[in-house]
Amino acid sequence: MSDSTKKGMFDWYFKSNLLMRILIGLILGAVVGLVVGPDIKWVNPFGDLFVRLLKMIVVPVIFLSLVGGAASISPARLGKVGVKIVAYYLFTTVVAVIIGLIFANILKPGLGLNLAGVTGAGRELKQPDLITTLLNIIPTNPVESMAKGDVLPIIFFALVFGIGLSYLVESDIPRIRDGAKILLQWFDTGAETMYKVVKGVLQYAPIGVFALIAIVFGTQGAKAFGPLGTVTLTVYLALVVHLFLTYGVFLKVNNLGFFKFLRGAKEAMITAFVTRSSSGTLPVTMQCTEDNLGVPRSISSFTLPLGATVNMDGTSIYQGICALFVAFAVGQELGFSQQMTIVITATLASIGTAGVPGAGAIMLLMVLNSIGMPVKEGTPIAMAYAMILGIDALLDMGRTCLNVTGDMVGTAIVAKSEKELDLSKWS
Ligand code: ASP
Repeated sequence: MSDSTKKGMFDWYFKSNLLMRILIGLILGAVVGLVVGPDIKWVNPFGDLFVRLLKMIVVPVIFLSLVGGAASISPARLGKVGVKIVAYYLFTTVVAVIIGLIFANILKPGLGLNLAGVTGAGRELKQPDLITTLLNIIPTNPVESMAKGDVLPIIFFALVFGIGLSYLVESDIPRIRDGAKILLQWFDTGAETMYKVVKGVLQYAPIGVFALIAIVFGTQGAKAFGPLGTVTLTVYLALVVHLFLTYGVFLKVNNLGFFKFLRGAKEAMITAFVTRSSSGTLPVTMQCTEDNLGVPRSISSFTLPLGATVNMDGTSIYQGICALFVAFAVGQELGFSQQMTIVITATLASIGTAGVPGAGAIMLLMVLNSIGMPVKEGTPIAMAYAMILGIDALLDMGRTCLNVTGDMVGTAIVAKSEKELDLSKWS
């Protein structure tokens, strides 16, 4: 066999459209999962492989590109971008919870479950401490944060380092200036290298996607068609409405095409959907935003890691709806002021939620606590909460997808407002 025929052996795979392959993996995974059921678990390692490959890239991508990004933008400009993106992140999250609550009040998931008949008393489950979470943004040891993959402290340190470097690049002392330029180039090349690796990893995505989806549908798929169907439906309806309405309006107001956005963002959206991790998807999110949506790295390298960690519209929608689900399930009516409390705590809880699978369900405890429904073992509230946990993977897919999408919309809009968006990618 000649060399050229050998090379062509996998052409059918590598030369076909990547998104098409990923979508086929997605649909096949769902179908095979539903048909085979829990026995599909043996494909687990193939899914884990995909997630591990993505996770491997996260810390180097954030650090290398954020140092380079922060160094190439003036601190004043960085501050302006920061204020804009934080305002956007906060606003859309609040809108998201409200949309979730509206749908939950209309569809009333959990109503009629009558779990209140079951009683019992017990120990309170531990809820996360928000103040500590906020303080932890400042690393006591940056190397430890990197080793643990804690995104916010890494962002903080990379920003500080990058800003420091941006001053050195303009130093009057030639020795320092030249050295700083080399260091900056080193970071840029490092980031480029990681993006190349992301593209390689994505070639494996169709297989990884197949395995991840097959497991979710194999182990939990059927449950979503039962009594928990309404909550699944409510969550997904609210997610879709937020996608089309909130993001649609934001993009429209900024003269950016919604479908052009989806075209550029799709790989990241699908990766988020199947990996259920905003942090894990980050390398793909950054690549899509820079290559397809035309956002410069000086902006995306800051806004996207931040968004992956604190901006979770999907999670806040989910938390709002599930808080109401639990209330309905135990036969409690929540009044206006309690629902307002949900808006505030779900916003805070989603900010505190880590970008990893299932984290939003843990922070839901905080929301439930705030409306006087603490999850104590053996109580009806705990039962309702456990029901939600049973289908968490399914809900997590949708909410993570929206979480990542929101980050990309915000990043594109901020870049546009800074006149930094490459509009040729949107035509
Ligand atoms: N899995 C979500 C994410 O990574 C967080 C959550 O569980 O809500 O964005």
